[in-house]
Amino acid sequence: MKNALQWKLWNLPFFDARHEEIESRMTVWRQNFPALEADIASLTLDEQCRAIARALGASGLLAYAVPDTGQGEIVDVRSVSAIREALAYDSALVDFVFAMQGIGSAAIWRHGSSAMQATYLDGVRRGTRIAAFAMSEPDGSSDVASLSTIARREGEHYVIDGVKTWISNGGIADQYIVIARTEDVPGSKGLSALLVDADTPGLSIESRIDIISPHPLATLRFNGCRVSAERLLGEPGAGFKLAMGTLDIFRTSVGAAAVGIARRALNETLDRVRSRKIFGVQMSDMDTVRMKIADMTLDLEAAAMLVYRAAWLKDTTDKPVTREVALAKLGATEAAQRVVDSAVQLFGGTGVTVGSVIERLYRDVRPMRIYEGASEIQKLIIGKRMLS
Ligand SMILES: Cc1cc2nc3c(=O)[nH]c(=O)nc-3n(C[C@H](O)[C@H](O)[C@H](O)COP(=O)(O)OP(=O)(O)OC[C@H]3O[C@@H](n4cnc5c(N)ncnc54)[C@H](O)[C@@H]3O)c2cc1C
Repeated sequence: MKNALQWKLWNLPFFDARHEEIESRMTVWRQNFPALEADIASLTLDEQCRAIARALGASGLLAYAVPDTGQGEIVDVRSVSAIREALAYDSALVDFVFAMQGIGSAAIWRHGSSAMQATYLDGVRRGTRIAAFAMSEPDGSSDVASLSTIARREGEHYVIDGVKTWISNGGIADQYIVIARTEDVPGSKGLSALLVDADTPGLSIESRIDIISPHPLATLRFNGCRVSAERLLGEPGAGFKLAMGTLDIFRTSVGAAAVGIARRALNETLDRVRSRKIFGVQMSDMDTVRMKIADMTLDLEAAAMLVYRAAWLKDTTDKPVTREVALAKLGATEAAQRVVDSAVQLFGGTGVTVGSVIERLYRDVRPMRIYEGASEIQKLIIGKRMLS
């Protein structure tokens, strides 16, 4: 069972007939994945990411994360979430590459001029251009309104100075959406979004950051980095709203990726307890083990419901869904952490052995409670919405 996703979107009430295509696409992707994994095994992390992006582009999957809005396409959060769940089941790195192409280009397909869309999006959709989103800074990224990177208007240009850190795809990206302060207004109203090519003079990679799960990250330095004012995305001062709009689309899908990781951990654990005997009995016959499996199942299924409810609401209503999105991200990532931790416990020493699947899942799930808004930030959003 361990390689079987056993994934039935149709058991949830949030999908309709067009989502059937996602199940069949993901079946094909998963059949081909072992060959891709073997092909890229000896490559560096950066080369792996580029190869994965090209494979995701060739498979057509990236088109779901990078819609052709010029042709009237819109992003379908249920599709993006279902794809992320299935990708993360096999590989958090592949899931990350898929998600970043969407997050790193959303400002262009949502707010970019048709010239910008024509120049940049096709390559991102085909996986031949790597996209990135640079908002976080060294002095506390949770407080987005306090960002201090400046983009000063000089005639027909903006000149950017400042430091961005924790930037996914930093160092391998071809383009960055940069959130910087353009207006002489404190707080969130002074921020704007600019599209910056990676080879623009004045933009450099200060350092790369290694974390517990394979993930290309870097600190970027902007030092008199001059870009055309036409690179502004949306209105001046609308950068905070634009960034939150991007997160409102993709935060739900972080929850979906967490569900994929939790589902893998549960399936691996079912196999393990069925095949392992301790104290002369099958682990699967022990009531305490069965209770643990019940807790893991409850967490997983509740997480999936929160995620796909938020995705369905985002797709089908114009009303604000920030509370539901925050519940999905918070609920699913926290639940997935508990599920994976229980898996480690039931695997015993094997669960913490370097190179085992469960050990990998344990490292992969942990950053999810921090990025795209830490759990505490999601709680603040939910509490505020409940009390307003
Ligand atoms: C793997 C990974 C990928 C990332 N990718 C990107 C990217 O592509 N682009 C980008 O811009 N950023 C990215 N980030 C940055 C990420 O969004 C930030 O790490 C996150 O927002 C937290 O900011 P921080 O690390 O500066 O922690 P801080 O803001 O210093 O917060 C530290 C901790 O304090 C707690 N906390 C914060 N605020 C509050 C509060 N108000 N009340 C109570 N507790 C609070 C939380 O537990 C939080 O984790 C990434 C981070 C990681 C780990």
